[in-house]
Amino acid sequence: MPEPMSPAHLLDLDQRHVWHPYGPMPGRQRPLLVESASGVRLRLAEPVEGVGELVDGMASWWSAIHGYNHPVLDEAARDQLGRMSHVMFGGLTHEPAIRLASKLVEITPEGLEHVFLADSGSVSVEVAIKMCLQYWRSVGKPAKQRLLTWRGGYHGDTWQPMSVCDPVGGMHQIWQGVLPQQVFADQPPAGFDAEPDAGYVESLRALIAQHAEELAAVIVEPVVQNAGGMRFHSPGYLRALRAACDEYGVLLVFDEIATGFGRTGALFAADHAGVTPDVMCVGKALTGGYLTLAAALCTPRVAEGISQGEVPVLAHGPTFMGNPLATAVANASIDLLLSGDWQTGVKRVEAGLREGLAEAAELPGVASVRVLGAIGVIQLERPLDEARMAAASRAAIRSGVWLRPFRDLIYTMPPYVTDDADLARITAAMLAAAHASEN
Ligand SMILES: *Cc1c(COP(=O)(O)O)cnc(C)c1O
Repeated sequence: MPEPMSPAHLLDLDQRHVWHPYGPMPGRQRPLLVESASGVRLRLAEPVEGVGELVDGMASWWSAIHGYNHPVLDEAARDQLGRMSHVMFGGLTHEPAIRLASKLVEITPEGLEHVFLADSGSVSVEVAIKMCLQYWRSVGKPAKQRLLTWRGGYHGDTWQPMSVCDPVGGMHQIWQGVLPQQVFADQPPAGFDAEPDAGYVESLRALIAQHAEELAAVIVEPVVQNAGGMRFHSPGYLRALRAACDEYGVLLVFDEIATGFGRTGALFAADHAGVTPDVMCVGKALTGGYLTLAAALCTPRVAEGISQGEVPVLAHGPTFMGNPLATAVANASIDLLLSGDWQTGVKRVEAGLREGLAEAAELPGVASVRVLGAIGVIQLERPLDEARMAAASRAAIRSGVWLRPFRDLIYTMPPYVTDDADLARITAAMLAAAHASEN
């Protein structure tokens, strides 16, 4: 065992050497040092604001749906560890990956039959895009190589995904002119329950028609735009996209990396619309937050198109593709989700968030409050600057909750196992954060 290091020493080394997400080097904000986690709680190595344990309102970027240190997932990891942590996937295969692929085919929308396992969400989006471009190349339409999406989206931080993130509000604005130029539609009108706006549907259709000759695919996050602004839209727009893509010969990709595995109240957000995309990405909650894993699923049409082309292979093969540990835990996580009454569980979280956030709408500085499935959002009237952001985070910590507000949003995507008392704690912390950001 290595010599123990004091929290102060660790944080000092962290500041000097460790690059954190979306931050400068060295970092300006001191991260919280987590010593361990179990259930829905993060245990800190030393108390911060007098608080030693935080209820995790973020589920580790929306992935830890069953909470931490879950006995079933721990057991699956230990069991697989005893067999093999990893073997290469080229020329070799193994039961956890085969089981996982079959299970994903079974539970995702009808018609998705083939599974490419990737090592992160962004890579699965790269693969999805490569599939679409290669499909058209293979069937003799190489000019179809652009993508269309609507504004306000987020699809990851590698190159192709960045090109379909929101071009203005997104984090990748400085790369305009360097990234591939994609086609952007307006943001879909807000509201999960709202009737689809006929004018907007027509504008989508017209844009797809106008660019049909050069479009390989339309790619969107179905029902919820997540890191682009935590906005909900009508499933009707997904049906409209399906119809327009079919009419004009364009593939449709759903990025379900954030919405998959029950987060919006349906197992997959596509299920709200009853639509099957040509390609679908899953990730984040796939392993219950234990290990990094994602997948791009596609229809036989896409797979056959590629496999009968001039270069009849999909030239992609991450070193850790189909990792046995990750796929074994993913199997356990999906089985755990489906063996319980997950719909009632997510509805309970939804009800708790609605109740707890109801009064937020009355707070000064709050523009709107919205809840869908296990997603709760307070949108402020103006974006948080660094000082107000820090004040909001501190207020949440003092309430015993880990939140990570961004832009004008104070939101939660908690583990589904969060009990009613902890949900109340999370919503109270969101109110406190909103309040603190105004003072
Ligand atoms: C998080 C996310 C990604 C990127 O996944 P990584 O695993 O972080 O690479 C892509 N699309 C959506 C919708 C996401 O929420």
